[in-house]
Order: sequence, then C-alpha cells, then structure tokens
Amino acid sequence: MSVSSAVVTVGEELLSGATVDSNAAWLGRALGQLGIPVRARWTVGDRDDQIARVVAQALAEHDLVVVTGGLGPTEDDRTRPAVARALGQPLEIDPQVIEVLSERYRQRGYAELPPANLRQAEVPRGGVVLDNPVGTAPGLWIPTAAGDGRVVVLLPGVPREMRALFEQVIARARARFHERLAPVHSLNLYTTGIPESVLAPQVEEALGSVAERQVEVAYLPELTGVDLRLSVVSADARWADAVLHEAGNRLEPIIGDYRFEAPETGDLVEAVALRLSAAGRRMATAESCTGGGVAERLTGRPGASSWFVGGVVAYDN
Ligand code: ATP
Ligand code: MG
Repeated sequence: MSVSSAVVTVGEELLSGATVDSNAAWLGRALGQLGIPVRARWTVGDRDDQIARVVAQALAEHDLVVVTGGLGPTEDDRTRPAVARALGQPLEIDPQVIEVLSERYRQRGYAELPPANLRQAEVPRGGVVLDNPVGTAPGLWIPTAAGDGRVVVLLPGVPREMRALFEQVIARARARFHERLAPVHSLNLYTTGIPESVLAPQVEEALGSVAERQVEVAYLPELTGVDLRLSVVSADARWADAVLHEAGNRLEPIIGDYRFEAPETGDLVEAVALRLSAAGRRMATAESCTGGGVAERLTGRPGASSWFVGGVVAYDN
C-alpha cells in the first residue's frame, strides 16, 4: 500500500496573512516528488492545544506528518512540547544538542549558551536530531512509540532552514518507506490564446483511454494562457515517462497551434527569446497604453540584449 503524508504549519503570522505559507507549497512538491504525496494540511497558531490536536489527527490518517515552525528558543515556540504531548513521548534533554548549540554560540562570541536555547535540546523520547547546517533550531525525526511505523518530522519555520534540513528527511524516508514510495512524475505543456473552457473538453476527450492509465491533468489558467500539467504516479520512472509522452503526443493536434516551449520558466518571454535566438533575429517594440510594459517584461529576462534592440513608447494620441 502506498504512503501518504500531512503537513502542519505553525505560526500566528501564517493565520493572519502577515506571512505567506510558502513552506506548505514547497513541501507539497517535495513530498510528492519523493513519493509520499501530501493528502491533507493544517495551519495553526502558536498554541499547544491546537498543535497537539491536529498532529494527533494527522497521525491517525497518514504515515508521515511534517510540522514546520515553532522550534525556536522563545516562549511562543510551542511545537516541541505540543508534539511530545500528542505522542505521549516525554521530552528529554539531548546533551549532544547542547554541545552543538554551545559551540555555535561560542563562535558568535558568547561564553555560554543562553538559557533559553536549552529548550532546543529537548527531544521527545525516541526522536532523532536532524542537525541544522544553516541555523540554530535543529529538526527532529520522531518515530511514534505506538509501533505503527509512523513518523512525525519537525522542521524550523524559516524557509531556508526548512529546505536545508529536508535532505535528511529524504534519506530517512527512503530508508523507512522505500518499497511503498510512489513518486509523482509530470509533464508541463504551456498554451496561450485558447481559454480553459474551450481547451478542457477537447483534452479530456483526447486523453480518454490514456486517462484510464492514471494520467491526471491539472489546468492552471493564468493571465497569459493556460498551463497543462500532466502527472502520473509510479515507482517506475521509465514507464511514467513513456505514458506522459504518449499523452503529450495525443494532445498535440489540439494544442499544437497554441503551445509554446518554455522549459525553464513556463513564461511566454522565454519562448520568444528561444525562437528569436534560434532564428538569429532581433526584435523591437512600439507601445502605447502598455506604457513600456512589454519592453519591461522582455528585458526582465537575462541575456535579452542579444535579441531585444529597444522600444518606443508613444502615449498621447
Ligand atoms: P526560529 O528559531 O527562527 O524561531 P522557528 O522554527 O521557531 O525558528 P518560526 O518562529 O515559526 O520558526 O518562524 C521563523 C520565521 O520563518 C518567521 O519569519 C516566519 O514568518 C517564517 N515562517 C514560519 N513558517 C513559515 C511558513 N510556513 N512559510 C513561510 N515562512 C514561514
Ligand atoms: Mg520562532
């Protein structure tokens, strides 16, 4: 049976909207690629009871629960004790973490570890410390004592630190869940000039039998066009690749006239740049009510000077 995960992000600033929850989006992609797709997520404030409640609920339904935020040294960093409570695994001081943190503070010119940081050396019984190479808050990998093979992972809220620690999560998750992992493989197709409502029925019809072979289609409409994301879940990367390309080929007669190539960014400007560069040609703009907006978009791409000459903005009629 395949594995699933849940993500819990902690912080009042995420609820109030002061900070956009980029960790949850990043983890959705990273866990999907790893083969442990995220099936649910919660955001809660810095409160013990809320954190404990959602972690317990998440663990009841998912193999892996990743929690970010609230691991710092201050009073409002509640994640560690709350998760310990949800698991029924008491907090114990890990002397090695004290060593590592003390050394880090010595390097910053402090004779000893500020007492508040002692909190960061607390580990729920059975937990493994994930060393933080870019900050102070260590992460934790905590197998449940219940013996059901489930794991809670605690990661710092700072996005850069969370991402740095995720490498260690990947290695441990591969070792623990290996034969049950089912990574997501995907193929992005970019279109412009055809509305989603016209595109979608044709795509669904064309994919008919391919869709039965587990290709999922997501329509991602933007101001400049509709991106199609085809995805398939499989432990067999070659099979997945073949299925995705077959699906892509079936769609070509429908989207061929609207499709553009922008493998790096998915941005129309990249497609313009690639075509001009391939043809060895250059372009210029003449704009009115866009006030130079087109030229600005074009010159936003690194290396634009090799294919963009310049532009004129004539505004008054
Ligand atoms: P620290 O030791 O820095 O206190 P922490 O684990 O306690 O680490 P938080 O205090 O929860 O982390 O958050 C630290 C910073 O990271 C804040 O600026 C916060 O806005 C940001 N942050 C926290 N969670 C997220 C998230 N889910 N998405 C994006 N940014 C986040
Ligand atoms: Mg904090």
